[in-house]
Amino acid sequence: MKLILLGAPGAGKGTVAKLLTAIDGSVQISTGDILRGAVQAGTELGKEAEGYMKRGDLVPDSLIMGIMENRLQEPDCEKGFLLDGFPRTIPQAEALKELLAKLGITLDMAVDIEVPRDVILDRLCTRRTCENADCQAIYNVKSNPTRQEGICDKCGSRVIQREDETEEAISHRLETYNEKTSPLIGFYEKEGLLISIEALNSDAVVNGVKEKLGL
Ligand code: ADP
Ligand code: ZN
Repeated sequence: MKLILLGAPGAGKGTVAKLLTAIDGSVQISTGDILRGAVQAGTELGKEAEGYMKRGDLVPDSLIMGIMENRLQEPDCEKGFLLDGFPRTIPQAEALKELLAKLGITLDMAVDIEVPRDVILDRLCTRRTCENADCQAIYNVKSNPTRQEGICDKCGSRVIQREDETEEAISHRLETYNEKTSPLIGFYEKEGLLISIEALNSDAVVNGVKEKLGL
């Protein structure tokens, strides 16, 4: 499957993407994970992106498009991909459209994961992320805690609260989402690619996607 996952920070894009990869071997492409990996590795890209990310601002479109142009041409994308956290702006969506046309790739759909704002806020404040850049497993202190406090079940690294998950950075990320990213819903509706799924849990989203794709 070749999907775009839309939805506010904390809507569960990453969790849904991971569940969907298990169905047909499509890969999850998370620009957030790629960027955090680059920051940790101290690459040129990481140095450029770090300040924006800490504030909860978007990284410039040109940096993101450079990442995606390379990533979408890697061989593991042939089976399909789930775009998680990209595109985030109308210019990114337009650039993606051009890029896909150039690469001869057709999207199946753009899935908007709809979750009420109070649920989102609660989730983001209680979210914890594995600090190992190769793992980045996501937990929640209330609904999905680690077996051992502060230690990742999968890889044994420390599990931390992300720097952009303080209350201030979270409300800034939500504002940014409303202003810059939510217009993508209209964009993909016009493209005839949009499906909206109201979702309080990830399984409901996965089932909705399977149904739409006839899987
Ligand atoms: P979220 O939980 O907010 O969806 P992500 O892990 O997707 O978080 O992204 C974390 C940060 O990385 C964003 O706040 C932003 O600074 C940067 N980022 C990720 N994807 C993009 C993108 N497509 N365009 C611009 N910035 C991005
Ligand atoms: Zn881990």
